[in-house]
Amino acid sequence: MEVKKQVLGETKSDYVKVTNLIGPPAYVKREYYENRGFHIQKVKEQQEICRNCSGETCRQPIPGMMPLLTSHRGYLYFPLTPCPRKKLRERKLRIQERRQEANLPKLFQGKTFADYQVTDGNRLAVRMAQRLVRQKDPGKGLYLYGSRGTGKTLLAAIVGNLLVQQGQRVLFTNTPQLRCRFRENLKHPDTPDRSLENADCLIIDDLGSERFNAWGLEQLARVIDVRYRQQKMTLVTSNDSLKALGEKMAQVRGNGDKQDAETAARIVSRLAGMTVPLPFYGLDRRWALEPGGICCSRQGGEEPMELFEKG
Ligand SMILES: [Zn+2]
Repeated sequence: MEVKKQVLGETKSDYVKVTNLIGPPAYVKREYYENRGFHIQKVKEQQEICRNCSGETCRQPIPGMMPLLTSHRGYLYFPLTPCPRKKLRERKLRIQERRQEANLPKLFQGKTFADYQVTDGNRLAVRMAQRLVRQKDPGKGLYLYGSRGTGKTLLAAIVGNLLVQQGQRVLFTNTPQLRCRFRENLKHPDTPDRSLENADCLIIDDLGSERFNAWGLEQLARVIDVRYRQQKMTLVTSNDSLKALGEKMAQVRGNGDKQDAETAARIVSRLAGMTVPLPFYGLDRRWALEPGGICCSRQGGEEPMELFEKG
């Protein structure tokens, strides 16, 4: 704007600031501003409708569209733009929808880093998880492993929750649910559900705790392979290190052969390439929370987590 004015040899006083009730102001050349008072008044009256709009049913002549005062080369225009309240409401609805699709366990829904206790055994993992949520470009996912009940699932679910709030597609799943999805896709080969491949963030909880059959293992390898190639974020929690996971997964249910070891190795090598392995140490916190149990805060040196979201 400044540059343009200088080129044209105009000063600020040649322009009039025209404000919108909703939205940024427009700058109109004084000569074009005159005699437009009636139009400006009309536009503002229409904007007033949207100011009191719930977004649910916009009362504009064309619902959901509101005129906005703008300028181009000093001329005044008032094009129709989407009702801002409606846009807000649509965003809210989209997040609600994403939350339902995400399939996050009820126990962990709405949890944030403020609900998470940082210990010496998980400090690095928490830091990496925070980075994952803050980054625009996620890069690598996480492979969270360690003994049962050390907070791996909660941490993964927190990442899922916060990504959903950003409007991203998250899918939380575990081995039985994966098997179920694979079977469903087999039943409906014409309309396969591709959410495992397409989710912005896929969380596989407790991988290795239950076995796949040879066919299921193949399906998992395919999903992981697609996500690896498309550089999609994947979070895995497991009781086993990647190496142990590979050995465990090679032991398929039913009749297996040499091929299964190769498939398992392929999954593990992909996971190693697309996630950062992060070990968890410490006591089982579910047990530690029982009355009479050993309190983690004394044993493990826990400290309350600083609120992350703003920083
Ligand atoms: Zn409206």
